[in-house]
Amino acid sequence: MSETEIINALKHFFGYDEFRHAQEEVVARLLGREDLCVVMPTGAGKSLCYQLPILMRPGYGLVVSPLISLMKDQVDALNTKNLSAACINSAIPFSEQQRALTAAANGLVKFLYVAPERFRSSAFRNLLLNVPPSIVVIDEAHCISQWGHDFRPDYRRIWQNTPELQNCQYAAFTATATPAVREDIKLQLQRENMQDIVSGFKRPNLSFEVLNCSSDYDKRSCIKQMLRKKEPTIIYTPTRKDADSLAEDFGCVAYHAGLKDSERKQAQDYFMNDPCPILAATNAFGMGIDRPDIRRVIHYGIPKSLEAYYQEAGRAGRDGNPATCTVLFSYKDIKIQEYLLDQNNPPPALFTELHRRLLVHNARFPGKPIHPEDVENALTGYNERMIQTALGILELHGIIERTTLSYGAEGVLSFTQAPSTISLNPSPLTQRSLFLAKMAQFFLANNLSSYSTTLDGLAGLTGLSMPQVERVLQALNNTVITWFETAPDECIQLTELGQNPTLQLDMKDLNAKRDRDTERLETIRKYCQTSLCRQAFIIRYFGEKIGKWKCEICDNCRSQKKTSKSFDRNSAIVLQAVESIDGQFGRKRIVSMLHGEDDASAVLTSNPYHGALSRMDTNAINRLVSVLIEQELLVVLDTRGYPCIYVKR
Ligand code: ADP
Ligand code: MG
Repeated sequence: MSETEIINALKHFFGYDEFRHAQEEVVARLLGREDLCVVMPTGAGKSLCYQLPILMRPGYGLVVSPLISLMKDQVDALNTKNLSAACINSAIPFSEQQRALTAAANGLVKFLYVAPERFRSSAFRNLLLNVPPSIVVIDEAHCISQWGHDFRPDYRRIWQNTPELQNCQYAAFTATATPAVREDIKLQLQRENMQDIVSGFKRPNLSFEVLNCSSDYDKRSCIKQMLRKKEPTIIYTPTRKDADSLAEDFGCVAYHAGLKDSERKQAQDYFMNDPCPILAATNAFGMGIDRPDIRRVIHYGIPKSLEAYYQEAGRAGRDGNPATCTVLFSYKDIKIQEYLLDQNNPPPALFTELHRRLLVHNARFPGKPIHPEDVENALTGYNERMIQTALGILELHGIIERTTLSYGAEGVLSFTQAPSTISLNPSPLTQRSLFLAKMAQFFLANNLSSYSTTLDGLAGLTGLSMPQVERVLQALNNTVITWFETAPDECIQLTELGQNPTLQLDMKDLNAKRDRDTERLETIRKYCQTSLCRQAFIIRYFGEKIGKWKCEICDNCRSQKKTSKSFDRNSAIVLQAVESIDGQFGRKRIVSMLHGEDDASAVLTSNPYHGALSRMDTNAINRLVSVLIEQELLVVLDTRGYPCIYVKR
């Protein structure tokens, strides 16, 4: 396929005149049937990289993505361009799934988007076997790797066991894969020869800086100083508490997952619509929010990885105009992150213990779910957060599942007026009046003032179903009765996999994850302490080849320029001094003259440059002379029977 053909296809299918970043290279190499692992930042245009080759070839392309919510948007976007696409996932009615499969089998669909769970369906696997796709696209490929930031075990599992795809071309895409994560992706895909293309990470308009702060007070002073200039700003904080307290101190708006939905919505609207919003937010803020003119992203503490940092900081300056990304760094931040790392990586013993307890429970009450709290309470030596994390990991690995209690939520029921005042033979007879009558009778018969029970218990007493009881309680709560819920009906249960007496969890994997998390933290620490170009540091970490490229605008690049400027001024003095003396003296005497020492020769003592570098010590002046000789600006010539210094002509 020639370059012109590719450009014509771009125009024809998408209406664009030119490619961005490495798009053209990716398209051409995919057309050349290479297996590729492509890393480009969000918004760089990865979809087009695989969509175009699929359109230019016969057959359909299979696009696998773990993010069902994004899948529909992609399919809709293609369909509005008159490019036939369909998606199959569990959120779609079965009949529609069947239709999509048939359409793909009959060559009526160019793009078939599926979620990983689809590989469990034999109808789908038959399609792959009988009508193989022209290419398998693995979107959001970092989710395959447990070292990535959004690991999905389901997504990892499918590749080990799909002989149907063995001979297909593979193309993996992601926005955030470090070299280690890419290696893992290839290993899991069993395509170790996959070639990497990393591109598009440079953000020449962003100037990065790290300010060393010794305390939170220091950090707040920095923020105060910065906020004097009014600009759209996001301040990222490590905790919800920090976000709230900064919002209070600086009169800005807070955003975090602890807010009510309506408050979050309000904060988002403020951020999108205010001419100069200032938001203090946790990392819950940002996904899908696209305000191009953010001029400043300040990190109140370090994030857990450089990937996370670049993603958050990268929300600045999307319009291409200058913007600043500042980290307020203190040693304490590392300590906080180390603590969080511990919480996020529970020790193997905790998993074994949790599993053992769940097995015991399951043996006593087969198939009966249990409250997480009942498991937690008996465990000592682990804090709640760590146990929650461990349960989350067990769920992620398919060992446990969350279910609803078969006997419903638990709570305490009471009447706000004497039960004797309630009509025991109500008319009309509604679910509510029936409920009240039955319960009043029960309270009176047993002389109760309150009754502790479950939804199931209430259903038994009133003859209503559990969902009916739930609705009645909701409607009547805080009127005639109060229903105080003491335990939600959410609980956990071992899956079939989890019922295996040996825990089906690879501890090696968990340890490896801990090591990776530690490494990531180390990288972000190095980032904060480097004296080299900050942006180059980040981009190299992602693995993009940039040679000697420097951003020229980060704090380190700027301070280097400053040093080289003063270096230049001093060099000029040395050169002019040597010029004025015109080769009559050797190096040693010229250096002492510049330093301001007396000399037997009046030529030197009365020279206009006598003492011109008195601020520098003689060693430094000597080094400077060496550099100038190295740069061939000065030469040493033996013109008088001893070595004299000249300006090179
Ligand atoms: P991501 O890399 O995050 O998957 P997308 O593929 O969703 O990015 O593309 C982001 C946006 O860029 C889309 O709106 C897409 O239409 C647009 N885009 C992609 N390539 C080009 C191009 N060559 N010229 C102009 N716009 C493009
Ligand atoms: Mg994408």
